[in-house]
Amino acid sequence: MKTIGLLGGMSWESTAEYYRLLNEFTRERLGGLHSARCVLYSVDFAEIEQFQAQGRWDEAAQVLAAAARSVEAAGADLVLLCTNTMHKVADLVQAAVSIPLLHLADATADAVRAQGLQRVGLLGTAFTMEQDFYRGRLAAGGLDVSVPDPAERALVHRVIYEELCLGVVREESRTAYREVIAGLVATGAQGIVLGCTEIELLVGAEDSPVPVFPTARIHAAAAVDAALS
Ligand code: GLU
Repeated sequence: MKTIGLLGGMSWESTAEYYRLLNEFTRERLGGLHSARCVLYSVDFAEIEQFQAQGRWDEAAQVLAAAARSVEAAGADLVLLCTNTMHKVADLVQAAVSIPLLHLADATADAVRAQGLQRVGLLGTAFTMEQDFYRGRLAAGGLDVSVPDPAERALVHRVIYEELCLGVVREESRTAYREVIAGLVATGAQGIVLGCTEIELLVGAEDSPVPVFPTARIHAAAAVDAALS
């Protein structure tokens, strides 16, 4: 079994899920008392969020590159960035280490295509929904990606930072997300990418008329596949 390196804490609410999912998937695959061999470097999210908000991506990348070197030194055979948004600096993190970075958008595109779908709606932070680093990577993976309108994007973004990353799950936010999902489906989305690792703490399959793709779960499953291959 390979050792999985996790760069987490962005936010820790979803990193805790990653840890649980890695262990559950490993037990499902191997049975008995088997659990995932892993190393976690968890950052202070307040620092990362400041860098994001101020557009200081190079400084955020330096923090994550150092964290990646730490998990490599601790024995990790592969590394996961446990956040969609920080894949904006995935290339810089990858360049800092010699172990492979398992890209979240690639794992997600694979999961969508495996269900025979192509047109997806994308929910995530404003960075993820509006910039090319993530949408472009999904498109390169064969997907046709749409996003909500600007007011809806602002709502989706606000709920992530002001509620979900703080462990707050509100029924009214779930209702609002359901409406955003319905709007994406009405304009042709065949599936919904929950492209922020906290969104699956709020909505799931029961909140969507089309399949949803929860990215923390997909990423954790891909990591266990890689660790056991
Ligand atoms: N975890 C989130 C994501 O998957 C958002 C928090 C962050 O900005 O890293 O994008």
